[in-house]
Amino acid sequence: MTTFPKQYIEKEHMTKADIAIARGDGIGPEIMAATLAILEAAQANITLHEIEIGQNVYLKGFQNGIDPKSWDIIHATQAFLKAPVTTPQGGGFRSLNVAIRAALGLYANIRPCIAYDPFVDTKYPGMDVVVIRENEEDLYTGVEYRHTQDCYHAIKMTTRQGCEKIIRYAFEYARQNNRKKVTCFTKDNILKMTDGLFHAIYDACAKEYPEIEHEHWIIDIGAAKLTDTPQNFDVIVLSNLYGDILSDITAQIAGSVGLAGSANIGERGAMFEAIHGSAPRRAGQNLANPSGLIMAAIMLLEYLDDIDTATLIHNAWLKTIEEGIHTYDIFEEGKSSIKVGTKEFAHAVISRLGKMPEKLASAKKSKGIIRIKEGAHLTPPHETKRLVGADIYIDASEIPLEGCIRAAQAVRAEVTFIANRGLVLYPHAAHLRSVTINQEMKAHFRCRFLAKGDTDFTPKDIISLQEKIISQGLDVTKYEGLYTFGEKPGFRETP
Ligand code: NAD
Repeated sequence: MTTFPKQYIEKEHMTKADIAIARGDGIGPEIMAATLAILEAAQANITLHEIEIGQNVYLKGFQNGIDPKSWDIIHATQAFLKAPVTTPQGGGFRSLNVAIRAALGLYANIRPCIAYDPFVDTKYPGMDVVVIRENEEDLYTGVEYRHTQDCYHAIKMTTRQGCEKIIRYAFEYARQNNRKKVTCFTKDNILKMTDGLFHAIYDACAKEYPEIEHEHWIIDIGAAKLTDTPQNFDVIVLSNLYGDILSDITAQIAGSVGLAGSANIGERGAMFEAIHGSAPRRAGQNLANPSGLIMAAIMLLEYLDDIDTATLIHNAWLKTIEEGIHTYDIFEEGKSSIKVGTKEFAHAVISRLGKMPEKLASAKKSKGIIRIKEGAHLTPPHETKRLVGADIYIDASEIPLEGCIRAAQAVRAEVTFIANRGLVLYPHAAHLRSVTINQEMKAHFRCRFLAKGDTDFTPKDIISLQEKIISQGLDVTKYEGLYTFGEKPGFRETP
């Protein structure tokens, strides 16, 4: 019988936390069984509430891969431990993760990417980088349109509060975990407004954490530096798309995609999972490495403030890894001592509960995963908002200059430019106006109308403007209102 250290027994008076779990698809049920066996052996103070998600639920006709009744359990429990699911091929299915993020307001994704050298092969010994990714905004709001035969748009949505919540989370995480530096990556040399906002809020938040070093890189050179010298990075904070891409790369170069877990923290709950997918080809063979989900479970326990159990499992896991007890994916002759299956790996961890690693750094008894109650609190500027014009998108085979000029005259506006994918065709290239647009120009024009003089536009002016354009036989596909905020334009003044 396993002898449990004192800290196990002292937890008996603790209230049990209600946790939703889902076994998922592919290797999901096996790695979840292994993880739950470890949690049980470590006497984690949790009560499990199982729900079904994934392929079967998708195929029953639930588009998000979750039965509506399961939402009640997810909302009623304190956190959700989720195994990977298989998204069925074909159209009509929506991402389960996106649905869960939206329902629970999971704005922060936290992914520690750690090298376990010399026991697990890695290109970067000593690497220890935490990627903190914004989870709700950016291009992932899924707002996309097709406007012409050839032209599609996607909306990158960025809010002041969304930026502040994730950036503040990153700094608080760094402070709590005694990390030295928070690096921000954006592409604000090109996306001056959306990424510019992220960068500006990062700079403002950084002032509140003077003990933490801060630096900003343009994402392209920053990513190059990260993959070349990850030891120079500590905590990285990014918006959604960049974070999605870079967190996979960071986990991969640590050599540990199968070993990494992720936490999704929000205002109405939290979800924990492995970073890998359901690996269907490995399913049902007792092959899969359960470590990613075990790491997720450790973060879940930290989130629940059960630091003792989190540390206990973490140290037992580190001891298992350094003893060379490895599943096939990380097994290497010379480095590993024995190749084990999913169940045997879990048993190895269980039998090491209470033991400390001797060569790898032991897990610290600290609350890695934090909750932030206050959220965004930088004071937003109070600037007077004025409507001063509109960008109207027109699907046409020729530059619609004459039609636009006539329409503008009718509403006291002027056409300040017509552009196609950033290329100004009017006024700089007015000679092009009679040219039939060739294939490369994709016949979708952004036509800017600004109110003449110092007058404002009204929403009715924009409607009349579009009516006038349509009456010229032109196909209006979309409009964007142009606003000023105080003295500053809420739009890019040049295409
Ligand atoms: P994957 O991560 O499932 O597998 C890629 C390869 O990595 C596998 O073939 C396997 O060789 C290896 N691998 C992954 N996890 C492993 C583990 N724990 N132990 C040992 N080897 C492991 O990626 P994929 O093949 O692109 O996706 C498979 C399915 O998973 C798809 O349906 C995808 O939509 C889904 N997916 C789900 C999630 C999620 O639920 N969070 C995340 C990613 C992918």
